[in-house]
Amino acid sequence: MYDVVVVGGGIGGLAVAALLSARGMNVCLLERQSQVGGCIARVEFSGHDFEPGMGLYTSFGLGGIYEKLFAQLPVDPPGTSLLTSPYVMRLADGSDVTIDEEELFSIAGGPASLAERLAESIKKSGGNLRLNSPVLRLSYDEAGRASGVDLLSGERVFAKRAIVSNLTAWDTYGKLVGLNRTPPEIKKNLNALRGAGVYVVYASMEESAVSSLPGERMLVKDSEGEFTVAVSSPQTAPPGKRAVTFTCRTEVDSWFAYQSNEEDYEQWDQEALEQFWNRLHTALPELGSDIEIIETANPRTYYDQTRRKLGMVLGVDGSRVSSSTFLPNLFIIGDTVSSAPKLDSVVESAIDLAADLSG
Ligand SMILES: Cc1cc2nc3c(=O)[nH]c(=O)nc-3n(C[C@H](O)[C@H](O)[C@H](O)COP(=O)(O)OP(=O)(O)OC[C@H]3O[C@@H](n4cnc5c(N)ncnc54)[C@H](O)[C@@H]3O)c2cc1C
Repeated sequence: MYDVVVVGGGIGGLAVAALLSARGMNVCLLERQSQVGGCIARVEFSGHDFEPGMGLYTSFGLGGIYEKLFAQLPVDPPGTSLLTSPYVMRLADGSDVTIDEEELFSIAGGPASLAERLAESIKKSGGNLRLNSPVLRLSYDEAGRASGVDLLSGERVFAKRAIVSNLTAWDTYGKLVGLNRTPPEIKKNLNALRGAGVYVVYASMEESAVSSLPGERMLVKDSEGEFTVAVSSPQTAPPGKRAVTFTCRTEVDSWFAYQSNEEDYEQWDQEALEQFWNRLHTALPELGSDIEIIETANPRTYYDQTRRKLGMVLGVDGSRVSSSTFLPNLFIIGDTVSSAPKLDSVVESAIDLAADLSG
């Protein structure tokens, strides 16, 4: 019997579990994958360690969210440094503007090292972190109160104080609670909520091509919308090469409409890649032929990796769902309940939830 059971080892679940374990609570975190991190888990292909996201990391400075987080944990934060190259927006007319927003940081080893540091913290504080442990649903006692969770393996894990779901709001109700138990008003709200899909291209670029770009983090506007560019640090790729991640939004439904026919899906994926390839070379002509595609990811890939409904990522559009649920001992943590779909916002809501649960 644990005090708290956390379902999911994305940044949200890890941060709550690390904080509660550090406060002496008996915590068990259950993650279905063989590694932690969810959306920020390591992406490695052909000797390249790719940036899993857009590479825009904030709040690592003095007095920032991460200082607040790690001050409460028995481990040090991962190494970070201010990004030296500018964050540049390329406009549709080809001109470049430097974006002066919050300070951007680069994280040594990428954001996965943040997830790994939190996993280390849980273990150091005596928490139980179980990988390869998919959770099927909540379990209920005779009084109809959620008593813990049932694993796909058939095992039941009990929680005395609370169950924290790091699944999206859709999946917390759709899978853990079960739609038959979810009140109609909540179902209606969930149906009205939308998230985004992303199409991601992981490429290898010659060092010389990277230096022809105006920045190693870019937001590129073009006639079809926008996409981002994130170049990883030199030591994450073979000598002379750099790992680069390109990300653009895509709608989700069509990626799943093809699920019954693998050939159609492959063709759809290929067409998406060709279309993106043309966009890339039109908007960034300086890349020339010094770039090679290594892999792609789309909403189906995100679904496979994280089990998020329709592979939707980057939070929700419009009004947010509450972290509390209609069950008094079930809480949600993650980017569908945080103030923004960003790591530091998820961590901030994890700090708040951990304070509530241990208060
Ligand atoms: C392409 C992309 C680019 C991004 N770029 C940036 C950026 O530059 N800067 C920034 O700050 N943020 C960025 N983000 C956002 C940030 O990465 C996410 O908001 C954050 O990682 C989401 O974390 P989470 O804890 O909400 O959930 P997730 O990462 O989705 O974690 C959920 C976890 O639950 C596990 N799980 C699911 N079902 C079960 C089950 N049944 N049983 C057990 N475990 C289960 C999953 O395997 C996963 O590990 C980006 C996101 C994406 C997708």
